Amino acid sequence: MARVYNWQLGREMAYWYPEARPRRQFAAVFDTNKCIACQTCTLACKTTWTSGKGQEYMLWNNVETKPYGSYPLAYDLRLLEMLNGQQWNGSRYTGQTIFESAPAGERVLGWRPEEQDFAYPNVGEDDCAGEVDGGKYLSLPHLNWFFYLARICNHCTYPACLASCPRGSIYKRPEDGIVLVDQGRCRGYQECVKGCPYKKVFFNPLTGTSEKCIACFPKIEQGIQPQCFVNCIGKIRLAGWISKPEQARADNPMDYLVHIKKVALPLFPQFGLEPNVYYIPPIHAPVSFNQQLFGPGAGEAMKTYRNAMHDPDLASLLCLFGSTELVVPRFRRQGDLAIGSDEKGAEIVRVPLREPVHVRPAFDAKNQLVRINCP
Ligand code: SF4
Ligand code: SF4
Repeated sequence: MARVYNWQLGREMAYWYPEARPRRQFAAVFDTNKCIACQTCTLACKTTWTSGKGQEYMLWNNVETKPYGSYPLAYDLRLLEMLNGQQWNGSRYTGQTIFESAPAGERVLGWRPEEQDFAYPNVGEDDCAGEVDGGKYLSLPHLNWFFYLARICNHCTYPACLASCPRGSIYKRPEDGIVLVDQGRCRGYQECVKGCPYKKVFFNPLTGTSEKCIACFPKIEQGIQPQCFVNCIGKIRLAGWISKPEQARADNPMDYLVHIKKVALPLFPQFGLEPNVYYIPPIHAPVSFNQQLFGPGAGEAMKTYRNAMHDPDLASLLCLFGSTELVVPRFRRQGDLAIGSDEKGAEIVRVPLREPVHVRPAFDAKNQLVRINCP
């Protein structure tokens, strides 16, 4: 095992291979507060990449309702129970990662789901935590909550799928950090399926190989965001490139949200993979639940997001989510406008922070009619 630095844990950790960061790293931010679980993203991916034989059960993108939803069944709970003592000391993780707690002779602490575990992608959908009885729903605020968690492969900095593969069939592209399975090398041992804690590698029984989310790399290579991003109805997603914390730039949308405002957090950082999909936590869910999912920064992130209306720079960046098909590597605010640009500063998109309100008169003199749905 090599020693590598994981900034999400605030410390070095053990990993199967030495640290080899790509020239730039694909990353994404998902705003959980805006997801409506319409599953358009799920279908956009399904119809693009997994409509073939042997892929019927696969959802490279899925959206589950927390706290009870999970695909495959209980993927998170099972590993959290196996990982003993996940303590944090401030922002430093003092517990063990899945690499550090691997059983003797294995590279990663993991488990392989049964076929049946993938059969209920909508389990727990819209089930809220706590009971709503005796007319309690009429009094606000109440303690019942749920939220939607959209998930794709995290194209991790330290992928467990890659570390687990005994044939070296999984690789991380040096040009963009996207993690892929070499279909020619894979022999279907499924060690990656067992190793990935997010369960984002899937075995295809027809081809006898493992398959996974490819971050729509043919689109990324053209500077276009992936299918699940551009089709997102709730405009919750933004793709980009993330730097190491010490190289963070205030005009890079990923750096700004993750490193500078710290409003977007990784999913289960305690597993130790340095995942590169970041989540703005749901502000109506309990802090303790968000901390287990997103780490110790969840409380502060919730406060920052609640305050976004008084923070014009943050508000302007949030306006750029879902505003263009193109990847926006730079942004700036100009008065009441959010402007996204390419790396050379050429403008890609501009969005007003506030839309004007048009109040139409109830009586329309020109057309001699009365509107009944004004304004
Ligand atoms: S989320 Fe899983 S499949 Fe994706 S890179 Fe990380 S370990 Fe591999
Ligand atoms: S398309 Fe967007 S809003 Fe709809 S379920 Fe997917 S992530 Fe959520």
